[in-house]
Amino acid sequence: MRKFFIAGNWKMNLLRDSSVALVHQLMDQLQNTSSVDVAVCPPSVYLHDVGAALRGSPIQLGAQNVHHATEGAYTGEISCAMLNDLGCRYVILGHSERRAIFGETDVDVNVKLHAVLKAGLTPIVCVGETLQQREAGETQQVVRGQCTHSLSGLTNEQMAKTVLAYEPVWAIGTGKTATPAQAEEVHADIRKLLATTFSGSVANAVVIQYGGSVKADNAMELLGQPNIDGALVGGASLKSDSFLAIVQAAAKIKK
Ligand code: PEP
Repeated sequence: MRKFFIAGNWKMNLLRDSSVALVHQLMDQLQNTSSVDVAVCPPSVYLHDVGAALRGSPIQLGAQNVHHATEGAYTGEISCAMLNDLGCRYVILGHSERRAIFGETDVDVNVKLHAVLKAGLTPIVCVGETLQQREAGETQQVVRGQCTHSLSGLTNEQMAKTVLAYEPVWAIGTGKTATPAQAEEVHADIRKLLATTFSGSVANAVVIQYGGSVKADNAMELLGQPNIDGALVGGASLKSDSFLAIVQAAAKIKK
């Protein structure tokens, strides 16, 4: 049985004081939502402070990126061991901003994914098509290609532990959201692909989040789709009210 998973991707927003204040608000206002896993992914420089503020809370800590190597001469980079040391549980991999701005490829994502799983962290692997690709009718081909290459070489057990996030690039930070039907179509197709590449039970176990302008007023409809198991939330995760409204929407829906 899959559990809803709502994660906030703070991107390069908030300074230390506002990060810690947000976490305190989330902890104060989070009601009984044991049916929902919740995580926040602050900028790496604040993982320590946010992690300390979260201690004892059900809200988990996640990072926005990681380097695949265990250690060494990689100026500016952060290893999985460092994330473990800071109490992280999750790592976002292959976010469309990392792909578009920093040139990350499916191969890069795959190398990181293996390192993350080996380190015992839970990856959130992002996939999604651009507007141009959607308009050209290439969504299925693009998303299937990203999944196939990013997830290459995983065992069934590793795949079952991996979270996927379908994030149409045209819906990220734009205020445009995929309709529940558009999102469900892609989620169902990803699950179909997982069933053929791995197994039916693995496909059934994998949590697939939707991301792209998820807000309080569209969360319920999106999360109500059978193959949508949560949300990766950008903008709306920067305020406690809007983030918690999405968590509450998930809590109201029976999986
Ligand atoms: C994201 O950054 O993953 C995202 C989905 O952002 P937003 O919710 O702001 O569209």
